[in-house]
Order: sequence, then structure tokens, then C-alpha cells
Amino acid sequence: MTAADEGAIRVRYCPSPTGLLHVGNLRTGLFAWLFARQRGGVFVLRIEDTDAARSDERFEQTIYRDLRWFGMDWDEGPDTGGPYGPYRQSERGAIYRDLSGRLLSEGKAYRCFCSEDALKRQADAERASGLQWKYPGTCRGLTSEEVDGRIGAGEASVVRLEVRDGAVEFDDVVHGRTRFSTDVISDPILLRSDATPTYNYAVVVDDALMKISDVIRGDDHLSNTPKQVLIYEALDFDMPRFAHLSTVLGPDRTRLSKRHGATSIAELRDVGYLPEALMNYVALLGWSPGAEGSEIVPPARLVREFRLDRVHRSPAVFDFGKLRFINRRYLRESPDLPDRIARALKPAGYLPDPDEDPNGHRRAEWVRAVIDTLVAGVDVPSEVAPSLDDVLAFPVEDSADCRAVAAEGGVLDLIRELGRELDARDYLAIEDFRAVAQRLKQSTGLKGRRLFHPVRVALTARGSGPELDKLIPLVETGARLGIRGIVRCRDRVAAFLEHYGR
Ligand code: GLU
Repeated sequence: MTAADEGAIRVRYCPSPTGLLHVGNLRTGLFAWLFARQRGGVFVLRIEDTDAARSDERFEQTIYRDLRWFGMDWDEGPDTGGPYGPYRQSERGAIYRDLSGRLLSEGKAYRCFCSEDALKRQADAERASGLQWKYPGTCRGLTSEEVDGRIGAGEASVVRLEVRDGAVEFDDVVHGRTRFSTDVISDPILLRSDATPTYNYAVVVDDALMKISDVIRGDDHLSNTPKQVLIYEALDFDMPRFAHLSTVLGPDRTRLSKRHGATSIAELRDVGYLPEALMNYVALLGWSPGAEGSEIVPPARLVREFRLDRVHRSPAVFDFGKLRFINRRYLRESPDLPDRIARALKPAGYLPDPDEDPNGHRRAEWVRAVIDTLVAGVDVPSEVAPSLDDVLAFPVEDSADCRAVAAEGGVLDLIRELGRELDARDYLAIEDFRAVAQRLKQSTGLKGRRLFHPVRVALTARGSGPELDKLIPLVETGARLGIRGIVRCRDRVAAFLEHYGR
């Protein structure tokens, strides 16, 4: 019988606090979490910090913060506690030592005094001659007197499991029935010479004692699993079910890493990705929703529709374009869109002066104008300030477009008339602009592009840009609210005439 047969679903996610959480690793956690939540199971967070040199308490704190921001919660963990703690491997040393003592006394494990250097020399020599190295079992036959003597003499030793003959088989939800011959498996080290546990040993002890029913992890661990199965057998522990998930690759089909850009959760959050959008996207790395075809699957639906037994075996390729597309969809629907945009505008100085805007009305009006003009073309909030820079620029001093337009017959008359119309009003409402355009059409006989192209160039000093219907309200609202550097339409036309009106 396996632990899984007993019914209760208990799933774990066990990041190591050796750096920031990355998308590849987060995908493993998300699939485990979705599976636990949809089965009404228990989700356990375990911190695998046995690598003392690389583990850092700060990273542990960022893991909690990033997971919570992302929208994952856990029922048991180092910070929440639970019935099978401690949940930090560095606090479980006594448990690992006790169980290895048991295996030693049962003769299933033995002390090995071979030095790492000597074994490495052996292995290098064998590999150089094309052979696959395997620990030859040098210390398997030591008597207890020999062992005690060498320990007494201060010799360092590790604890190794004696691998049995035969094959190791296990079922994997993704890879199916998987079989390894023990001929190629070295007796695995359980405890190192400093009595710290190896990954394979600690993970089995923890998964078994924490009553984990389903071990869901990256398939970079698939080759570890036969060793773990042997450790389960030796300890007479019930076996969990296994699901080894494919690797996440970058667009160039190498393993996804920092080289590919912002792939840590913290970075993606800081750029302005929404947690629901990120969860939606990460769920699509190796899984796809049913026949429907839509790739927009919000978290609540993910929990209902995700199927662990339908995850793909082939590697998933991280597609920044798709992430951006999905984020854009969530961003536009986001109930706190105005706040997000305001936060993104602040560092660039694109907000009204708070002293002149005690009740925030100006800010609300301005952010609304920015959203109306720009947000449909923006994937992440951090793009808003640069697109404002672009859209609001008025490079009138040195503009080939201005020169070209001013040289066309009749244009200066048209722009002078536009200037007189705008001078007659304070700030230009879009309805007024339409009425002005109508009058210019009648008085000059120009229409379509012949009318609007020169008008656009006089208003923006450029030949292309957003529709005037959107641009004019943005410019006029910004100028009226005193947003830094925004020149209103009237002054733009005056500047155009000053430079190009001869
Ligand atoms: N700490 C391991 C890792 O991050 C966990 C592997 C496992 O889930 O067994 O790769």
C-alpha cells in the first residue's frame, strides 16, 4: 500500500532559500498548489536549507512574500506551523540522525571512510577510459570492530545506503511506469561526514514523516527518484505518487535563467505584472485548458480546471510575448487600474503637485485621461511613463516634418487660422476642436489628410502619433492640471508659427 492509497491528499513545495524564486521553480509550486487545492488537500511549504553555505534567511523571507503576492497560500510551513514540523530542514537534524542510526543498526546502511578525493580520482580515471563509474562498495564489508576503531582514531566517515540488487520501478503521473536498474546506482550517501543529510535522504524522510501523498517536482530530479525509492524501501515507509514536470526553457530553448531577462517573481512584480496574470501564464507552462481554446484562465478557474494528469511531457518554452498579452488583458480589467497607473507615473514626475491637489481630484482626472489615451497599448504599467514621454514630446525646434509641412502651399495660412481659433479659447475641449476643424475645412476647402496632417504636425511637431481625438484631450488636461512639461495646443501652434511661419 502507498501513502497515496490512504486517501488524504497532502502535497508539498520545497524551495531552497538560495536565491530569488524564479518562474521555472514557481511553476512546480503552482502545479502542486493547484492540485492540492482542487482536491481539497493540504498544501505544505518546506524550506530545504541543508546547504548552509548557500542558504540565507533573507531569501526565505522573500519566498514567503513572493508566494503570497503571487496568490499561493499554505496550510503548514515554517511560518505557519503544523502537526509534522519543524518544516525547515536545518531544524530536523536529529530526525535524520536517528533514522540513519536505525538503518545502520539494521545493517541496511554502513559507514564509509573513503575520502572524496580518492573516489574522485577513481571516478575520473574510469570515465577517462569510457566507463561509467559506480561506487565499488569498498566499505560495505567492514566489521563493526573496524568501524569503531577507525571512528575512534578520528577518521571521517559518511553513512551510505547499501543498494539492493535488481531493478527499481515506480509510477510517474507524467512519465508513466519508470524503471532503473540498480547496476548503475552507487550506494547513496545519507549523511555526510559532518552529519548533515543529503538531499535524497532528507527529502524522503521529510516526505514520509509529513505524510506527503503526491511528490510533484521538476524532472531534473527524475534521476534522483530511484535512489529515493530505495531509501523509502529501506526505511519501510509508504511510497508517495510521483509527478515529474518538464523543464521550462527560454525562447532560445536553453534552460530558463537570468540570461533570458526578468524571470524572478520579484522582478516581474516590480515591472508591474499582475499576480493573477502571472499565475494564469505560469499555469500554461506545460498545461493547457480543455477544448475551449481561450488562454485567459483566471486563478479560480485554474483551480477547477487544472489536470495534473494532462501536463505535457515535453519542455515548456517561456514566451514573454504571451505573458505580456495576458497581462494586458488583466491590466485593463483590473479594479485598481487607476492606482497602478498612478504608482507607475509617480517616479517619472507625471502626477499633479499634491500640495495643489489636496483631495486628489486632479490626480484622478489626469490618471483617467492617461488610461483613456494610452492603456490599451500598454502591457505593463511601467511602460506608461515612457509612452507618455513619447506621446507628449513636442520637438518643434528641429523637426523635418515641420519644415516639410510648412513648405507646402497654403499650409501656413491654415495653421495661422488654427492659431487664431485656439487663441480664442482657454483650454481646448475635444468638441471645440472638432468644430474648429469643421470651420477650417469650410474656409480652406481642405479635407482629410490634406487638412489633418498639417494640423497634426503643428500640434505635435511630428507626422505620426496617436489619434488627435485622444491626444488633444490628454495634452489639454495635462496642461490645465499643471503636469510637468506639458505644452497646451494653443502654445504649440504659436511655437510652430514662430519657428516656421517666416
Ligand atoms: N529543494 C529541491 C529543489 O528546489 C526540491 C526538490 C523536490 O521537490 O524534491 O529542487
